[in-house]
Amino acid sequence: TSVRRGAEDLGPTREFSAEAVEAGRHAYELDRRHVFHSWSAQGSLDPMTILATEGSWIWDGEGRRLLDFSSQLVNTNIGHQHPSVVEAIRRQAADICTVAPQHVNPARSRAAELIAEHTPGDLDRIFFTNGGADANEHAVRMARLHTGRYKVLSRYRSYHGGTDTAVNLTGDPRRWPNDYGDSGVVHFFGPFLYRSRFHATTEEEESQRALEHLEETVRLEGPENIAALVLESIPGTSGIMIPPTSYMRGVRELCDRHGIVLIADEVMAGFGRSGRWFSVEHFDVVPDLLTFAKGVNSGYVPLGGVAISPHIAETFDQRPYPGGLTYSGHPLATASAVATLEAMEAEGIVEHAARLGEETIGPRLRKIAERHPSVGEVRGTGVFWAVELVKDPETKEPLAPYGGSSPEMAQVIAACKERGLLPFANFNRIHVVPPCTVSVDEAHAGLDILDAALDVADAMH
Ligand code: PLP
Repeated sequence: TSVRRGAEDLGPTREFSAEAVEAGRHAYELDRRHVFHSWSAQGSLDPMTILATEGSWIWDGEGRRLLDFSSQLVNTNIGHQHPSVVEAIRRQAADICTVAPQHVNPARSRAAELIAEHTPGDLDRIFFTNGGADANEHAVRMARLHTGRYKVLSRYRSYHGGTDTAVNLTGDPRRWPNDYGDSGVVHFFGPFLYRSRFHATTEEEESQRALEHLEETVRLEGPENIAALVLESIPGTSGIMIPPTSYMRGVRELCDRHGIVLIADEVMAGFGRSGRWFSVEHFDVVPDLLTFAKGVNSGYVPLGGVAISPHIAETFDQRPYPGGLTYSGHPLATASAVATLEAMEAEGIVEHAARLGEETIGPRLRKIAERHPSVGEVRGTGVFWAVELVKDPETKEPLAPYGGSSPEMAQVIAACKERGLLPFANFNRIHVVPPCTVSVDEAHAGLDILDAALDVADAMH
């Protein structure tokens, strides 16, 4: 039996000079004066300054070290400042910083080859974008042009990005103020047993009823009008609800039957996060289009894309694809993707993520759930876990309302930060989403902190 070490004994250390801390404070002041932030009321913000990052760790504006259990926006799958990725960006910058997308760019060619090697089935043509939202924009455009249809089906409890089409696909409150009502998107309910709206008591029942609901939605919307069905293979920010395999296979079969393009959004769940290269692999389902971003290069340089199956790519063999971006396949972004994917292969990072989920994070979280009445459910896979906090385990009343925050949740988050853990939180959930490279000791140290912080939530019962 090994002695477990606390977070203070692990990982890298850094000293910050008084000047470095002062420069951080100045950056904070400039930020508050000039930077307009995403998804926020500008007047009530108090953002954390980050002075440095390394591996699973970040240092805040006072030079205090925190374990990054958020992976920022769930993107640093390979950890912070991975040396071979940093070096690849340096080398690429010295060589070619930018080329227009119509030219052959060796970094892009190799990145496309590597991505195609890992995508499931025959998804072997890659269109590069700047991030996840525009990947979804283009996937929907491809599906509409391919089918000649307009409507798109998308799940409630989903997030697909902040641009116009992507935010309209989104089935969470971020869509509400951005919904113009003419997007052609129709939302449906996916399986979510813990809060089953189908009154199901087993996974199989949930799966079957969710499929019946989807089938009826398709019938009532008119299958001949539906271009695409978009879903996150494992919904991320909406709560990491792993769908039953029978559901995903049923969706594939339904799309095939009606000539609907199946788009799997793997922006958050892809590239190792779920313990597989892509989370559709858990269900043995191959979509027609697969969108990605984040983990493809751990976000070191903005990058996303669409992996396209040959039957859709063929549509654009003789007919131009009417879309593009100045930075499609940007050399710095794709060079960092090549280095990321090569390091993930060489270091067995996807296998490590799978093992962490099975042997460390999953078992620990289940114990944590037993100990804390404030934990309604834990669920996940790999390094992709959600802890659902409730006021009462019987009624399942969430600790913060859907689409909102609460003083109780704010206290739990603050308790994590005070103890040296940066969590990822959304509504009434804390997500355990460290880098895929987090060590077993670091994972235990972070979970010890979360365990202690949840006492705060229990005390509010
Ligand atoms: N799709 C999913 C599943 C996401 O989680 C996100 C971002 O969190 C996006 C799309 C949007 O990606 P981006 O912010 O890179 O545009």
